[in-house]
Amino acid sequence: MPKSYTALKASENNAEASLYIHIPFCNSKCSYCDFFSVTDHSLMAKVLDRTVEQTARFIDYFGIKSIPTVYIGGGTPTSLPLPLLDKLLSFIGTLPLGEGSECTIEANPETITIDLIRLLSDSCMNRLSLGIQSFSDTTLGTLGRHCNSATALKAIGLVKEHWQGQLSLDLISSIPGQEVSDSIADIDTAISFRPDHISLYSLTLEEGTPLAQHYDPDSQSIDDNVWILAADHLEISGYRRYEVSNFALPGCQSRHNTRYWKLLPYIGTGAGGVSTLHDGKGGLFRISNVPDLEKYLESTDLICGAETEEIIGKSYIFEYLMMGFRMTAGIAKSDFAKTFGREITEVIPETIADWKNRGLAVDTGDSIALNKGGLLLLNQFLLDALSELE
Ligand code: SF4
Repeated sequence: MPKSYTALKASENNAEASLYIHIPFCNSKCSYCDFFSVTDHSLMAKVLDRTVEQTARFIDYFGIKSIPTVYIGGGTPTSLPLPLLDKLLSFIGTLPLGEGSECTIEANPETITIDLIRLLSDSCMNRLSLGIQSFSDTTLGTLGRHCNSATALKAIGLVKEHWQGQLSLDLISSIPGQEVSDSIADIDTAISFRPDHISLYSLTLEEGTPLAQHYDPDSQSIDDNVWILAADHLEISGYRRYEVSNFALPGCQSRHNTRYWKLLPYIGTGAGGVSTLHDGKGGLFRISNVPDLEKYLESTDLICGAETEEIIGKSYIFEYLMMGFRMTAGIAKSDFAKTFGREITEVIPETIADWKNRGLAVDTGDSIALNKGGLLLLNQFLLDALSELE
């Protein structure tokens, strides 16, 4: 049931919280994308000012004292003109970033210039996530991407030459028309640059997107086996899988995303941003900012016309399972017991026993995790857990 954010006061539970800033602007719209972003940049400066104001107010209102990770995503954050991006980065530099905080910014290859890399290098940013998706011009055409392979290769070359921070590359697999060899070729090109981290997503045809109107999700146009074999190739190449779609060199996992999967508190600012905070009474509180620039600018309250939602009881447990079992490390028994006051093996005993017996889940003593075969069936595992919870 929706509840006012005023029920949520500054709390010790949120004293350490991450920050996500949503920049809802892109230079063009990709045919598979259902993220909130617009290509009309006329409100950019006003929206950025409001986002900065909302961020400062959230930090103050919710009593956030330390920010261990920052993630500027979108949209395409680097579609901001450099003076506006500079303004945002300077503001972030004034925030109570924790010691050794991880600060990531997403970028698209066509926006990479030496001036941009210099600006990022002079700021608190220390991790760059580049949306490559594929190095094949045919595949990029299917995805309706703005840039071609030559631009992507040039961008990575510039980053490798001038950027000292961590680098993550995003790739997509199981794209209509893509063969296993095409996806493996994309991976080989990506790892030839030795990025610290690679996200390999399996294409999802999101309802309402132009791509979904061309391809039937139930037809053979999407071949999941391409993703499975591509993921194997990444692991053989030294990138250890630590989450359903994420692979990293040792010590280079995304700390920000790991906090999402552990349901640790974070604020999300900007139009379309989402916050998840602890309510101080054993539950979660979610605030979803309105995905509409004019409404975002017009609203006068602290949360900019956002929708709010309480996540308590079984809903909280289910969300914890849904996020936690995405990680190859699974769920630490002690974390679960500390959060819910009960053992995970008491909450979903039959599901755990069944999946262990079938050789799809592993109990290490300290944690419960799905293995490689189990992760392929994650949705079925969650359905089993849900029916046991009810
Ligand atoms: S660049 Fe990213 S956010 Fe922008 S339209 Fe393409 S997929 Fe969506």
